[in-house]
Amino acid sequence: MAKSCKVNDSCIGCGMCMSICDAVFALNAEGKAENILGDIPADLEASVEEAAANCPVQAIEVK
Ligand code: SF4
Repeated sequence: MAKSCKVNDSCIGCGMCMSICDAVFALNAEGKAENILGDIPADLEASVEEAAANCPVQAIEVK
């Protein structure tokens, strides 16, 4: 099953996740990151995990 991820409210909009994986993460109108892709394709799982690990406030939840 494809993994999913979402960004929770603790996001501070630092941009780190976008610099790691701009296919999945983008800033929304509130200046917070969001998942713009939906389910994570297998070839992007590693970079989503890397983005989650590097988020300074652990705002990225990967399931
Ligand atoms: S790395 Fe974390 S805090 Fe920074 S924009 Fe992405 S989700 Fe938000």
